[in-house]
Amino acid sequence: MLLTEHGLYAASDPNGFRPLVVGTLPDGGTVVCSETAALNAVGATFVQDVAPGGLVVVDRNGLRIDHYTTKTELAVCSMEYVYFARPDSEIHGVNVHQARVRMGKRLAAEQPVDADIVCGVPNSSLSAAMGYAQASGIPYEMGLVKSQYVARTFIQPTQELRERSVRMKLSAIRPVVAGKRVVLVDDSLVRGTTALQIVKLLRDAGAAAVHLRISSPPLRFPCFYGIDIQSTHELMAANHSVADMRQILHVDSLGFLSVDGLERSVGLTTAAPHHGLCVAYFTGEYPTPLDDYAATLQDELSQLNIKVAEVSA
Ligand code: SF4
Repeated sequence: MLLTEHGLYAASDPNGFRPLVVGTLPDGGTVVCSETAALNAVGATFVQDVAPGGLVVVDRNGLRIDHYTTKTELAVCSMEYVYFARPDSEIHGVNVHQARVRMGKRLAAEQPVDADIVCGVPNSSLSAAMGYAQASGIPYEMGLVKSQYVARTFIQPTQELRERSVRMKLSAIRPVVAGKRVVLVDDSLVRGTTALQIVKLLRDAGAAAVHLRISSPPLRFPCFYGIDIQSTHELMAANHSVADMRQILHVDSLGFLSVDGLERSVGLTTAAPHHGLCVAYFTGEYPTPLDDYAATLQDELSQLNIKVAEVSA
């Protein structure tokens, strides 16, 4: 986005990795933002999603939505649907909450387990937990509560700060979880820091068993499209098999949603690779050519994954 003395310019990259939407205010003003939730917040009316390669110009002639290239291929960041975006946002016509519920439903079908209650990690995993409960028939319960005043752990700069903020932000409701076999639904497993502490919270509150279900596939590859995970050392699933992770996290079982399940749950389009999503985090298939640094990193990681597969085979 660029603001000059001549006008406001906003562009979407040729893959549309990040969402970009245009809205209008009651007084005729234009709003350009990432999420439709922001339009609602300022009382603006949705006009349209900006397509990949799209260019928005707002100047003294008014609003124009055009494109700067036609060499485009839709690859919206799948993590927007999984974790980043607000549940009340719509990205390319798909409501984020409803997509997460579908992820939870598919997760229940792909990774079933016998248990007493389903709990989600507040707040971004609650929709998927509802879906898991609906599809499995296991009652949905509020086993964890979250303080509203602590920032997301994912974006804390150091490990120590991330661990401290988990303890400050979450607590288990003992009468709900004590003696229960709990299905704990989380939207993603990045470093494992949060999951490890949440499992401990549930066990300390008396949970009889904790079955961890992740409503996205294992994160194994770095992101080169604006998310600050560029080293595979930080990614738990890049360095450990599922069986190893189950032991490290002290859970009774561990299961992930498949890449296919994620793509179908979002249900964006079937007309583009991976249903119009970027799933590089999970598959290492980057929608754009990688530069030398990224290619070297990817090569090293492929070798590492081969070793992990050999060890866990
Ligand atoms: S690599 Fe992952 S975080 Fe980055 S754009 Fe693709 S799906 Fe999103």
